[in-house]
Amino acid sequence: MSSLTSGVYPPPLSSPEQTHLITTIKDWTIANGLTIRPPPNPKADPNAVTAVSAPVTLFPSPFPRVCFEQGRVVQQSYNELYAAVSRDEKFIEDMVNEVKDGDDFIGQLWNIHLKVKEEGYTQPLSLGLFRSDYMVHQDCTSEPPTLQAKQVEFNTIASSFGGLSQQTSGLHKFLANTEYPLLEKNISSILLDLPENKTTQGLAAGIQAAYTAYGDSELGHPRCVVFLTQDGERNVFDQRHLEYQVLQAKPAIPVFRLPFSEVLQHTSIADTPKRQLLYKLPRNPDKVYEVAVIYLRAGYGPGDYPDSKGWEARLHLERSHAIRCPTVLTQLAGTKKVQQVLATPDLSVLAKYINNKTPAAQELWKTFTNIYPMDTSPSGLEARKKALDPQEAEKYVLKPQREGGGNNIYRGSIPSFLKTVPEEHWGSYILMELITPPPVTNTILRNGALEAGGVICELGVYGTCLWDQNSGKAKHNEQAGYLLRTKGDKSEEGGVAAGYGCMDSVALV
Ligand code: ADP
Ligand code: MG
Ligand code: MG
Repeated sequence: MSSLTSGVYPPPLSSPEQTHLITTIKDWTIANGLTIRPPPNPKADPNAVTAVSAPVTLFPSPFPRVCFEQGRVVQQSYNELYAAVSRDEKFIEDMVNEVKDGDDFIGQLWNIHLKVKEEGYTQPLSLGLFRSDYMVHQDCTSEPPTLQAKQVEFNTIASSFGGLSQQTSGLHKFLANTEYPLLEKNISSILLDLPENKTTQGLAAGIQAAYTAYGDSELGHPRCVVFLTQDGERNVFDQRHLEYQVLQAKPAIPVFRLPFSEVLQHTSIADTPKRQLLYKLPRNPDKVYEVAVIYLRAGYGPGDYPDSKGWEARLHLERSHAIRCPTVLTQLAGTKKVQQVLATPDLSVLAKYINNKTPAAQELWKTFTNIYPMDTSPSGLEARKKALDPQEAEKYVLKPQREGGGNNIYRGSIPSFLKTVPEEHWGSYILMELITPPPVTNTILRNGALEAGGVICELGVYGTCLWDQNSGKAKHNEQAGYLLRTKGDKSEEGGVAAGYGCMDSVALV
């Protein structure tokens, strides 16, 4: 353990120190795009360019080195695992059948796959920009107590905050070199072990690898990458960092942002056996690009499919020759139900995809925590009993098959929530043991105000993988940097964009 844990950290700040640090952080965040768009405000000038600082901690949070290393070391195995699950159509079908009665969204996604399968997929390559999320678990049953990274969830679609996380590491490094040593209770930069974080480059390298692997346009068009976006996206600068980095390739790769709601308007599918996806520049329809890679930062939740046009657009993309990041099958592989089945206690399911012969795979096995089905199997019935008992339920979180935060039901709210759901649909949820990390304190700067106190940190490790869906062969498999999100310890959810959490970086201890 370093002196970070023995001394007072983060140090108390005098009022002038606070004011100075706040000003410095505000300037740095705006100058370096550690920013989000503010919520819509009818009184604001509609022509104004608006950005506000993303909420951040004043100091990097202490984070156990063993858990950080564990997360990094297992990432390539996780990439492999999820590529393998995406290729196992039967496994995904079984999962869909378990949940689709209570979850129309998952059923609809599966239908897209079935339709394209009938016609025949023309693009064997599949791209994943993944993020595996963890919290620190303290095992007090071992002597001395050990710390373990336990997986919260695995994201296979729209894994966000890569751009902002690299900037947050940059902010804390900057403060460590300039401001922290000047504090009354100074922390010199040597005391802080701040690992390098090159998430933007890492994620861009995945997209660039897919672009290259796509090959030249047989139709003679210039090629491009399309970022599929949501209308009114506030986390736009996070996406921009990645976009500008992809463009940096030599030769440069054109990237266009396309709202999901406009896919059918601005793209078409070539009338060829390959079904190339063509993008017409809205401002100059004579300019036609062939889309090599389509990166989804939309389409992960029912809100993006308000009517049948949304599903038509998703089918249109899925049946095209563009490399999808992700495919429908990979999106389905990222459901909490799949995570629960993989976490089956004897780990026999996991063993089908990953042998535990390598040290990295052995570490991966250790990241699982207890997750139970809510179906009518013996363990499902046992889980139902726990979920309905107000006292027992305190140890759990109930999750539907949804992404993007704000969908879970926590602790004492579980029994009454379940009573509002028809029992035959309970199987579309999973019950997960709550991970309770050791206490950490820090101060969050949000909307110019400070919130000091106990915080809970969630580590995300990014991974990129490009594989052949037919052969399973991976053309690119990398670990791609990390994210640390921190929330007040009174809050259940950790979403930064949703306003619960904030950006942070690790100071390894
Ligand atoms: P989503 O896909 O919506 O992000 P998550 O499974 O990540 O869903 O849950 C959202 C948040 O809920 C997490 O960021 C975390 O703060 C909290 N959470 C989820 N699962 C657990 C758990 N097992 N223990 C503690 N907190 C959890
Ligand atoms: Mg998620
Ligand atoms: Mg999450």
